[in-house]
Amino acid sequence: MRPLMLALCLACLTSSLPAQTTSPSPASRVARALDARVLRAHLEFLADDVLEGRAPGTRGGKTAAKYIAAQFERLGLEPAGDSGTYFQRVPIIALTPEPSLAVAGASASPLTWKKDFVLWSMRNDSLVRANGDVVFAGYGIVAPEYGWNDYAGLDAKGKIVIVLVNDPGLQDSTIFRGKILTYYGRWTYKIEEAQRQGAAGILMVHTTESASYPWTTVLSGWVGPQVRLERPPGSLLVAGWLQQDAAARLFSQGGQDLAALTVAAAKKGFQPVPLKLQLDASVRSTVRRSETENVLGRWPGRGPLAHEAVLIGGHYDHFGIGAPVNGDSIYNGAEDNASGTAGVMAAAEAFVRSGVHPGRSILFIGFAAEESGLLGSQALAAAPPFPLRDMATILNVDVLNLYGRTRDFSALGLDQSSLGVVMTRAAAAEGLKVTTNEEALLKGSYFRSDHFSLARVGVPGTSLESGSDYVGRPAGWGKEQHDKYTNERYHQPSDQVQPWFSYDGALQQLRVIVRTAVAIGDTPAQPKWSAGSEFRQAGEARLKQGGQ
Ligand SMILES: [Zn+2]
Repeated sequence: MRPLMLALCLACLTSSLPAQTTSPSPASRVARALDARVLRAHLEFLADDVLEGRAPGTRGGKTAAKYIAAQFERLGLEPAGDSGTYFQRVPIIALTPEPSLAVAGASASPLTWKKDFVLWSMRNDSLVRANGDVVFAGYGIVAPEYGWNDYAGLDAKGKIVIVLVNDPGLQDSTIFRGKILTYYGRWTYKIEEAQRQGAAGILMVHTTESASYPWTTVLSGWVGPQVRLERPPGSLLVAGWLQQDAAARLFSQGGQDLAALTVAAAKKGFQPVPLKLQLDASVRSTVRRSETENVLGRWPGRGPLAHEAVLIGGHYDHFGIGAPVNGDSIYNGAEDNASGTAGVMAAAEAFVRSGVHPGRSILFIGFAAEESGLLGSQALAAAPPFPLRDMATILNVDVLNLYGRTRDFSALGLDQSSLGVVMTRAAAAEGLKVTTNEEALLKGSYFRSDHFSLARVGVPGTSLESGSDYVGRPAGWGKEQHDKYTNERYHQPSDQVQPWFSYDGALQQLRVIVRTAVAIGDTPAQPKWSAGSEFRQAGEARLKQGGQ
């Protein structure tokens, strides 16, 4: 039936539309070359029990990396990893801490680990010690675009700074972005800024409201092994949290009132306040080292911008074999993120099949160790295979929509840079309207996936989200499915291939991705950070960087 209908249709087209018929654009050709069977085959392989949940450094994790590299090679992508291979080394260090924290010279009011504080080493050694004067530095934020500097007039060198989590918008909706969490509110930012200021240590005051999670969540993250990349030497020795009541006691011991200072910290022009005491902090750690790898393949661009690249990536790791749930101990990670990894490979295949080479190259990436804290993408940002200034953007694919076709499209951080405009146009070409996920904004989801490691070094990017308006489904159905995934399968052995998986929605998302990649690949100027973005400065610094 089908060939006949096609022939008829072509006949009517040629008779009614002479000469005028335009051939499809390069972006349309790539979009049309996306193949649901390719996507499904990769997903089902990566999510199979035989891959043992793809944990970093395990046989299953290595098999996944080899598989991705083999696919890149089959497709004819150029190796873009270390020394002519498809692999980039990601060295991982795991430190299990045994810390102590005390007021120097005082016998009263000792601080108890886990009850009152948690503390990590910021070095790679088995013992670090920091002692020094203590200063309350408000929210610990330096944000020129908001005219804000909590370190104003303070020489933090050798000192231990105490800061609040979240940002001042929490107390005053007219400053920063109000209740929408900016990157300045995340604890990772506080640590980075303290390091830039030359501090010896940083302690963050926990409240359930400011952190958006209880003290028990801090404990579960900070008491067991701290898994991260090895750090280059810097000033910062220790970082940790203070439980709210313990912090209040410490402040009164140092002649200050935490409650009053918390209010003062949300006022513009806040000045750092020294506490009349010194802290003695040390962390003894058991150190284990291991290694995993990113997988990198390059589809070369054509023309003067071919040395630059658009990045399309997704993390291939998951949790491996762990505690059994309902008799199943393999954490397959089918949706998270066999789907995204399969999507990256399917996108690569679409470029190859269509033969479309945009002006910029496309770098396809299988990120390692995302679930351990975005480690693969951090390793790429720390040791890029070509200068960061040549990375035009990153399109991250973390969990594809396997629930069916939608009328809308969503992605994180579209307001952060001009990439949002390009992506909105690409979505429109697929008949999709862009919707914003409000919940993701409030939670700061933009700061929790691999594109973000690149944002921190100034490369604008985004991570796909599922739309919510499903074709042929009642309103609210999408949210229901999403909640069900979060409650029943997310990060559990039950995140495995489901008989009802539908690839239509995922194909819609990938078509938007490849259209965006072609548009950015062919536009002379790189996407720009928005004027109000907290990453604009990093973006400007990136473009001024010299070669590696
Ligand atoms: Zn994920």
